[in-house]
Amino acid sequence: MNSTRGPRLVLIGKQGAGKGTQAKRIAERFHMQHLSTGQLFRDSAAAGIDAGLKAKKFMDRGDFVPDEIVIDVVEERFANPKEVEHGFVLDGFPRTETQAVELDRILGSRTLDLVLNMEVPTEIVMARLASRKREDDTEEGIRRRLELYETETKPLVDFYDCLGLLVTVNGVGEEDEIFGRMLAAIETRLTY
Ligand code: AMP
Repeated sequence: MNSTRGPRLVLIGKQGAGKGTQAKRIAERFHMQHLSTGQLFRDSAAAGIDAGLKAKKFMDRGDFVPDEIVIDVVEERFANPKEVEHGFVLDGFPRTETQAVELDRILGSRTLDLVLNMEVPTEIVMARLASRKREDDTEEGIRRRLELYETETKPLVDFYDCLGLLVTVNGVGEEDEIFGRMLAAIETRLTY
């Protein structure tokens, strides 16, 4: 990666690990796009757009939105090179191995620089989620999403580790402190 653009970055972590907060700060720091598939779905459902309304049915149950729908939404964003030419931070995508393989295809020569794995113990994410007021944060929804994280998303940690892209960051602590750790991890990939 060179210093004329920001990193091409993926954040992985359990729900409530703080991905959204940190992704927003990283995107601001490097003047680049923050792409949250969850947020895209919430916005398009609120606007009454078909893909968003379909996605909402799955989100309300804590289920994953089917890969085809998620991949279409991401592909659409990457089809506009202006959106991502300065780098990007993907938050909440990929969440399955199929999505990771499709992301690689969508990116083509714009290969990822880094995958940051935010590690936070389950007891701590549960406490954070209890204080969050999102529509899908029901007891059943939270349980289901943690289960899906273990079975579907956690394997991506090994997947990206094998590709030499993974850096695990301790996601426990103050927001600023965690941001500092994230930046330090990104710096290790910057070449000048
Ligand atoms: P998030 O805002 O990342 O917590 O995502 C909220 C919800 O959107 C998730 O619980 C899923 O139902 C859905 N979602 C977001 N991103 C994805 C994805 N990459 N694959 C499947 N479902 C997703």
